[in-house]
Amino acid sequence: MIPSSQGTLTGWGNTAPSRATIKRPRNASEVSEVIGSAAHHVIARGLGRSYGDPAQSAGGTVIDNRGLGQRSIIDPDTGTITLGAGVSLDELLREAIPAGYFVPVTPGTRQVTLGGAIAADIHGKNHHVDGSFMDHIEALTLVTPSGTFTISPTQDSELFWATAGGMGLSGVIVEATLRLIPIETSSVLVDTERFEDIDALMDAMVTGDHHYRYSVAWVDCMAKGARLGRGVLTRGDHASADQVPLDKPRLQPPGSPKLAIPFTAPKGLLNKYSIAAFNEAWFRKAPKHKDGEVQSLSTFFHPLDGVSMWNRLHGPRGFLQYQFVVPDAASHIVPQAMALLSRRSVPSFLAVLKRFGKGNSGLLSFPTAGWTLALDIPLGAGHASAVLDELDELIAEAGGRIYLAKDSRLSPHLIPTMYPKLEQFQAVCDRVDPGQKLGSDLSRRLNLRG
Ligand SMILES: Cc1cc2nc3c(=O)[nH]c(=O)nc-3n(C[C@H](O)[C@H](O)[C@H](O)COP(=O)(O)OP(=O)(O)OC[C@H]3O[C@@H](n4cnc5c(N)ncnc54)[C@H](O)[C@@H]3O)c2cc1C
Repeated sequence: MIPSSQGTLTGWGNTAPSRATIKRPRNASEVSEVIGSAAHHVIARGLGRSYGDPAQSAGGTVIDNRGLGQRSIIDPDTGTITLGAGVSLDELLREAIPAGYFVPVTPGTRQVTLGGAIAADIHGKNHHVDGSFMDHIEALTLVTPSGTFTISPTQDSELFWATAGGMGLSGVIVEATLRLIPIETSSVLVDTERFEDIDALMDAMVTGDHHYRYSVAWVDCMAKGARLGRGVLTRGDHASADQVPLDKPRLQPPGSPKLAIPFTAPKGLLNKYSIAAFNEAWFRKAPKHKDGEVQSLSTFFHPLDGVSMWNRLHGPRGFLQYQFVVPDAASHIVPQAMALLSRRSVPSFLAVLKRFGKGNSGLLSFPTAGWTLALDIPLGAGHASAVLDELDELIAEAGGRIYLAKDSRLSPHLIPTMYPKLEQFQAVCDRVDPGQKLGSDLSRRLNLRG
């Protein structure tokens, strides 16, 4: 018997609750059985860390991929490992770091599954050097309504690249083989620099990011006047054994959260005044310039994982994440977006600014060369809705796009412009799923299957 229950699901930012039958298959044949017997739309779900609605399907069936937890050992010759789609990066890193390996790409949290990482083709602070998650996948097993396929960049590459960033719509990933990267220590050598305005910050990123494997800037979109977009740039590389003090543990796995938010914060706790005060205090706390600081992998990559259920701090309404990318030729959109938010008093926690390198062949992959900015905005805040609608149009016109793993509000008419390979994606999905059995709240809202 495949474990089954009824449940109400939301996204991490707090999307509208969506009730579905939840199934937890343990292998490819059980996944196939769930898809075959489902009456309505089926979609896979990992740890629900997408901010919007891609991992929910109202009235349909949701496949909880956490039943797919098998793992091989790391091949010492190639650094590859084969994992079930439900294994989280946290679980993987607890084994990989002591063995001297790290994931080639990590998002800002370890609490995502392999399936979720592939379906969103996630990016990290090293996109300008290493590309996105799918660039490090050797092969994967995909269950679709028309059969089970083993696919790779050379074997049915069309289906492989439709699955990269395909938000679960090309099939259910059961397992994948991932190339890890070798590390000598679980530390990162970090250089930090504070910038008083956005132009100086962006110049420093353009001229200096290529000297580092990892780079990210935290930006204050609530500062006023010339200080708008002031930020703190942190860049680093894995530390070698001789760069870490002898009393520091060499290869320490990640710890568990030290803090938990026990209940949802009261409404009104976060408003434009409290958020502006937080941003100010945070900016002042950062060093003006500091080189060669030894930080743990967790501190550098996953600071939010130290606090479990931190999303409850946003109160009962929750928040939305808004992440866009624009090409270098439209870099002016970054300060323009900040000015628009500030002028219209839309509160935003520290924004994250990164540079992307060249995109891959993923038909719906988000990363493409240029600038990406991610904002956390309380839901229902002031003129947020109108301002973001305006920004969507500017971004689409400039050849940019919004990240589907974080979206909960985009208008479907912009999708073909933002994702020009949409028709090709739909054709591949139609080949393996002619009856359109695979579908999510996101795919229906944005008409992704056509
Ligand atoms: C604090 C935080 C920081 C983040 N930072 C980043 C970042 O830096 N970069 C970045 O790219 N993203 C980032 N994200 C987003 C996150 O990495 C993605 O949304 C990721 O997809 C979540 O994985 P999940 O396992 O929780 O999947 P879910 O959110 O449960 O699902 C995401 C998508 O994956 C599909 N899916 C899940 N499992 C399967 C499967 N087995 N087969 C087929 N499809 C499947 C679902 O259908 C859905 O479309 C962040 C999220 C949080 C909460």
